[in-house]
Amino acid sequence: MKTITLANGKTIEVECLSCAITSGMIEPDGGTIFESENFHAHQDVAYPVKGLVILASKRHIKCLDELTETERAEYINLLSKIRKSQREVLGIEHVYYFYNEDTTHHFHTWMVPRYEWMDQFGRSVESVRPVLLHARNHMNHGENVSEVRKAIANLADELNRRGPHD
Ligand SMILES: [Zn+2]
Repeated sequence: MKTITLANGKTIEVECLSCAITSGMIEPDGGTIFESENFHAHQDVAYPVKGLVILASKRHIKCLDELTETERAEYINLLSKIRKSQREVLGIEHVYYFYNEDTTHHFHTWMVPRYEWMDQFGRSVESVRPVLLHARNHMNHGENVSEVRKAIANLADELNRRGPHD
């Protein structure tokens, strides 16, 4: 069990954070970006990187090969749709994708936009943890956080405008 502190200061116990978010039991800080039949896209604003998106399955599974055929199709279509919106709405040129199966959460993919300020931490996979920690520890201030929230709202608008199939 994990103890989660909600925005209103209350704490609750959940078995799986991803289940709590994708089922709507917890509203992710920053809100939901997009929701489809089998997936849920949101941002973890504890890591305030503009345009970062976490795409989680609604079913509690760990491994890619547990996705059904329908889920597989929906997953790749959604990843592409979100990626396209990041480019069109936020001008994001490159994205890093992360997903590991030995997680305490369930199936979820982090889409981390790449920005110039991240170069100080190197490139590729070794740069990602320092980048996220830097964002959490040094970019958690009013102006950046409100830009991050605005980006979430813009992505949500674009994705919901497009509808699930285009
Ligand atoms: Zn779960």
